[in-house]
Amino acid sequence: MSKIASYLQEHLSGEVMTGVDARRYFATDNSMLNLPPAAVIYPRNEHDVRKAARFTWQLAERGRVVPLTARGSGTDQSGASLTDGLAIVFPAHQNRILELDSKSGTVTVEPGINFGKLQQTLQTHGRWLPVAPASAEYSSVGGAVANNSAGMYSLKYGDMGAYVRGLRVVLANGEVINTERLTKRELNKKLGLATFEGEIYRQIDTLLEENKELIAGLERATTRNSAGYNLLDIRRKDGSFDLSPLFIGSQGTLGIITEVVLNTESHEPGSTLFMAGFDSPQAAQNAIHELRAQSTMPAAIEFVDKHLLTQVQTANPNVLGGIVQPPFPAILLLVEYDNADTHLKRSLKHAQKILEKYSLHVVSETETAKQDQFWKLRHASTWLLTQNDGPRRALPLFGSAIVPPENWSKLLQGVYDIFARAKLPVGAWGHAGDGQVSVAPLLDLSQVGDRQIAFRMLDEYVKLVIALGGSTSGDGRLHAPYLERVYGTEAYNVLRKVKQIFDPYGTLNPGVKIGVSMDDVKPLLRSTFNLEHLYDHLPRS
Ligand SMILES: Cc1cc2nc3c(=O)[nH]c(=O)nc-3n(C[C@H](O)[C@H](O)[C@H](O)COP(=O)(O)OP(=O)(O)OC[C@H]3O[C@@H](n4cnc5c(N)ncnc54)[C@H](O)[C@@H]3O)c2cc1C
Repeated sequence: MSKIASYLQEHLSGEVMTGVDARRYFATDNSMLNLPPAAVIYPRNEHDVRKAARFTWQLAERGRVVPLTARGSGTDQSGASLTDGLAIVFPAHQNRILELDSKSGTVTVEPGINFGKLQQTLQTHGRWLPVAPASAEYSSVGGAVANNSAGMYSLKYGDMGAYVRGLRVVLANGEVINTERLTKRELNKKLGLATFEGEIYRQIDTLLEENKELIAGLERATTRNSAGYNLLDIRRKDGSFDLSPLFIGSQGTLGIITEVVLNTESHEPGSTLFMAGFDSPQAAQNAIHELRAQSTMPAAIEFVDKHLLTQVQTANPNVLGGIVQPPFPAILLLVEYDNADTHLKRSLKHAQKILEKYSLHVVSETETAKQDQFWKLRHASTWLLTQNDGPRRALPLFGSAIVPPENWSKLLQGVYDIFARAKLPVGAWGHAGDGQVSVAPLLDLSQVGDRQIAFRMLDEYVKLVIALGGSTSGDGRLHAPYLERVYGTEAYNVLRKVKQIFDPYGTLNPGVKIGVSMDDVKPLLRSTFNLEHLYDHLPRS
């Protein structure tokens, strides 16, 4: 590798490092895995990225595959930003806003820009990106696009992909392309190009044509789904065509994003927040079902369960701030309507009625300071994540799996059963309105027994999610072995073909998404998990 690093050092304007400390630092992200890169590149500009890609392509043509992996802030929880090849780290230099049109709300950024900083700038212009992940303060926009990230307001506003207007992407061979929605005429021009880009357009066009039924079968009855590649939104009924959906959520396995053009929403400050306690998950599920059926979707429907509240109360009652008292309800829902709602008064009236019908008690609040007190209950999950019990740590094992919203309470019950079988304490939180449950089992990764429990629990969890019509909704390294199970072998082979079209030599983030088995993943398990990359910030979940 030292020859490769020397070559890159000579030819790139950004820095290339091979020192032990840099490699150790980038050997982890926020997953349970560990994989030190051979070298770390801090690209100064797109040229550097192109040179690195062209170089690895040429090496691969001669039979040597050196992985090239883009990295934002490394907060991924499934090992997607890890590599044993070249880690291309964006936040150091490529972190600028290139253009902001405050009238239309379109903003063009470099991928390494911090999501929270972009959000702050947008808000000073009366705009915002409502899809921010909980990790926004310490993660990058490039990572959010590559992961198709989502947050609590995705219930109403969708995922990151819904806001991407266009991308600039460096392909595996170093060519650079711009993607956006094309008319039929523009597509025909692309199909005629005698370049790698033209080859990609032609092959994807044929793939879509020849696999219509299999591709239609990739649709899930979930509110979002980032497992595999999004082949569903490339060609629309009007004949328009866009490659961006393929890159969104592709985790650096199809190309390296060097510029992102985003649409934004106008920012209307203020909201109404309901807090309601329920005596069972089913009662909460009934309320969620009726809330979702209203003409206006709430901005967020979030939950914490009594087990989480009890654990927090026992360890440190101050975290709960006296807002709820034991005995805790089985489920506490936080339902928010933002002021962008055109029929706000009517929506609030309906929501109040629905929550009163199914809950033990309901209160509403419009004052920000008091709402923050309510949200503290939901953010008590942060306490659980940062907890340790001796060498045991709360592990990010289950990822961002999602089921159809009507199956949320069944997912929660199934999760309780999995924890009971493993004899582990459970505490759950998450995006109830989207059919999502977050949990983090306390296990000691230095113990073989605990490692086995972790993989058994993961296996049971994925089975449950699939049985409920859901999706793992993100792959990385840890969940990639399940992708074939999620879609079935034939559809999985179509996804494989996509990878081959964009990355024929397998240089772009290999070991992520496609062609991964548990035997590839298990040797990468860390012996201790920690949140070391996050303590500069509040590790919100
Ligand atoms: C406590 C906690 C809470 C979280 N909450 C959420 C949440 O609410 N919602 C959510 O979606 N996620 C969440 N995450 C996961 C993660 O933080 C997000 O997905 C985040 O958007 C990733 O951004 P990043 O900059 O850290 O990306 P990284 O971790 O650096 O990379 C993620 C993936 O993107 C690829 N990538 C990065 N930059 C580029 C690029 N320029 N071109 C191509 N590929 C690229 C990487 O190769 C990797 O595959 C959470 C994580 C933690 C630790």
